[in-house]
Amino acid sequence: MSNYQHQLINGTEIDLQPGKVVCIGRNYADHAKELNNPVPSKPILFIKPATAIVSLESGFSIPSDQGECHHEVELSVLIGAPLTKVSVNDASNAITGLGIGLDLTLRGLQAQLKEKGHPWEIAKSFDGACPLSKFVAPSAIADLMDQDIQLAINGAVRQQGNTSQMLWTVVSLIQYISNHFTLMPGDVVLTGTPAGVGPLHKGDELQLSLGDVLSIDSKVL
Ligand code: ZN
Repeated sequence: MSNYQHQLINGTEIDLQPGKVVCIGRNYADHAKELNNPVPSKPILFIKPATAIVSLESGFSIPSDQGECHHEVELSVLIGAPLTKVSVNDASNAITGLGIGLDLTLRGLQAQLKEKGHPWEIAKSFDGACPLSKFVAPSAIADLMDQDIQLAINGAVRQQGNTSQMLWTVVSLIQYISNHFTLMPGDVVLTGTPAGVGPLHKGDELQLSLGDVLSIDSKVL
């Protein structure tokens, strides 16, 4: 088991028990296109359990025997209040931290499962499948829906997007999720990935950034 605890970038522990991670599939049209998926008419939700969360800054391992493990860089949102069928305003007020996460995906395995019409949990929810950065306070970001998000690997930019390209805004996603199930303090929402996903390899050096507020180095151990 990982001893992960949510933290602020200054190293202060956040007093919220890490919970489930609710992920949004295909929230950037260019990523839906690159995997030959239709652009959805409603958000696609799936969940990673708390046991998938590890620290991004500490470096992370990937499964070695299950085919390609892809990076998906995503804006992460830490929830600070219980949310059930909330208004947009309540959804907005519940945002307690913003950061960067990786939605690690066993792509070949996911493709096999999708082909059979099966749930894809084992391709997305394995131990370590969700490296999360430390969080900044929402007040540190002037316009959440206009932030660059970028992943470079070994010095080459692989994924680059802007939150303005999302099909659904962060607040509307939180509201949508809360209409289907309750979000709890300590839960995290991963808001979808821009185009450029691809395989990770042991030893890769990662540089991730969110606007000018977060810049993080990580490594595949
Ligand atoms: Zn994703």
